[in-house]
Amino acid sequence: MSEMPKKRLATVWLDGCSGCHMSFLDTDERLLELAAAMELVYSPLVDRKDFPEQVDVTLVEGSVSSEEDLYKIQKVRARTAYLISLGDCAVTGNVPSLRNPLGPDAVLRRAYLEDGLLNPGIPTRAVPRLLPLVRPVHHVVKVDLFIAGCPPSADTIYFALSEVLAGRTPNLSDLTRFGK
Ligand code: SF4
Repeated sequence: MSEMPKKRLATVWLDGCSGCHMSFLDTDERLLELAAAMELVYSPLVDRKDFPEQVDVTLVEGSVSSEEDLYKIQKVRARTAYLISLGDCAVTGNVPSLRNPLGPDAVLRRAYLEDGLLNPGIPTRAVPRLLPLVRPVHHVVKVDLFIAGCPPSADTIYFALSEVLAGRTPNLSDLTRFGK
């Protein structure tokens, strides 16, 4: 009997704190079990620069906050069959969207001009331009599954991913089962 082909999995980090990726790694030895069903083809955890074609499943951490995030998520969506918003920043905007009532200029002034910096100045090169509003991922592209939590627990991520890799839609309506 031939083995099932491994699913091509990617993880992407937009405007987030990396906590959701850390929680994914907290699945610990269960990563080996997941690895039997998937091949990690792109991630901040591996050294690959370009997002590949024909990805089966992509986990997205973080919200869409900059022009670079917008460009990246559109490319990711076009190349991914099943897109998962991982964590509250991706699902709702969460912490990054706290700047929405203030606008990007106030944030840039606070970070680069205030508080007696030695070398004040808002960078104009090599820093992606902020969008006027921070948006959750599904406001920009279609999302197939939402995994809430800040971060979602390792148990939640493991359950959701094993179900998706097995071709099923996970029921995440009761996250208290997973302690989150
Ligand atoms: Fe960090 Fe929480 Fe946002 Fe995940 S949801 S990127 S843990 S702030």
